[in-house]
Amino acid sequence: MSTSVQSLSRRGFVQILGAGAAAAIARPSWPAAALERLPAAAAAGVVRLSSNENPYGPSPAALNAVRRAFDQIWRYPDEAVDALTADLAKLHGVGSDQILLGAGSSQILKLAAAAFTGAGRSIVMADPTFEAIGRYAQAAGAEVVRVPLTADHRHDLERMLPAGAGLVYLCNPNNPTASLTPKAEVRSFLERAPAQTRVLVDEAYFHYAESGDYESVIQQVKERPNLVVARTFSKIYGMAGLRLGYAIAQPETIERLLEQHVWDNVNILALVAAQASLGDAARLERSRRLNRDTRGYVVSSLNAMGHPCIPTETNFLMTDLRRDVGPVIEALKGRGVEVGRRFPALPSHLRVTVGTRPQMEAFLGALRGVMG
Ligand code: PLP
Repeated sequence: MSTSVQSLSRRGFVQILGAGAAAAIARPSWPAAALERLPAAAAAGVVRLSSNENPYGPSPAALNAVRRAFDQIWRYPDEAVDALTADLAKLHGVGSDQILLGAGSSQILKLAAAAFTGAGRSIVMADPTFEAIGRYAQAAGAEVVRVPLTADHRHDLERMLPAGAGLVYLCNPNNPTASLTPKAEVRSFLERAPAQTRVLVDEAYFHYAESGDYESVIQQVKERPNLVVARTFSKIYGMAGLRLGYAIAQPETIERLLEQHVWDNVNILALVAAQASLGDAARLERSRRLNRDTRGYVVSSLNAMGHPCIPTETNFLMTDLRRDVGPVIEALKGRGVEVGRRFPALPSHLRVTVGTRPQMEAFLGALRGVMG
């Protein structure tokens, strides 16, 4: 893979952002001597808690659909695109012309940056938040305006509407803080956003949020021509490796995104897997419950170790170690545990994905060892 292609990848971003090799390498080849020093769990394989994947994987129905679709891969995916689009439209109570599929929601973010930002049309985003769209907007020639989160880790929406903004990016729940911006604040913000400023609400972690203070804004799309919602199959649906996400917006906005679109961008295996996943509500509920239970265990363990956590509504969490986390991240990596990168806006906070119970036991053991 050439450097330029690699720099366009999600992991490429992480490297550019200075995450270090921990987040960039899934399965490093450990020297034999180093292997001997690793705990048993890590020697069997690196414990990857850096990318907020669903450790329970996709629905068995999705895997069966992929197997059945193998003999279809010689065909372009048109019918499968139509079928999934129709199911998503039904699920969300919108028209098929209000859905656009992407190779992961990352591609939706890229299209939005290309369509709605550029010279003289800035992007406004929180700090810290999911960085990708800032990079895409920069590539489109836009100024990136970063607005720090409030002290309790909400988007500071009062400060997120500067004149001339082409796009406001609102990640709710927010990555990396795992925190919510309350629904009343988001509603009032959407009411005030001027028509020429698009607002992209990234709901990648929607399914994990259970607070009464949270809502999806999909129902508001019909009243708001400037609203775009991004969703993904990479998180609770456990399909990060297949690459499928989508946008929901009014047809005119979808048209604008389509102008930037790559033809036949989504593959047939991802499409059939996504369609089958939508039909397996029990699997989704199981992932949510397992995440909730394990997350509770990790939060209380961290609290008992003296590390408070930002209240989390996602499948990851941020804990305050009250010291620079850079060296901690490296030391954890040395013990076979990969966690999120260091976020300069929150340098003492460690972001860790909620994996399975054994993975989290390995993480807590390694953290105890590192913190001394
Ligand atoms: N949005 C947020 C908030 C994320 O955390 C991620 C991935 O970590 C993405 C979007 C991109 O996910 P994908 O491109 O796999 O849909």
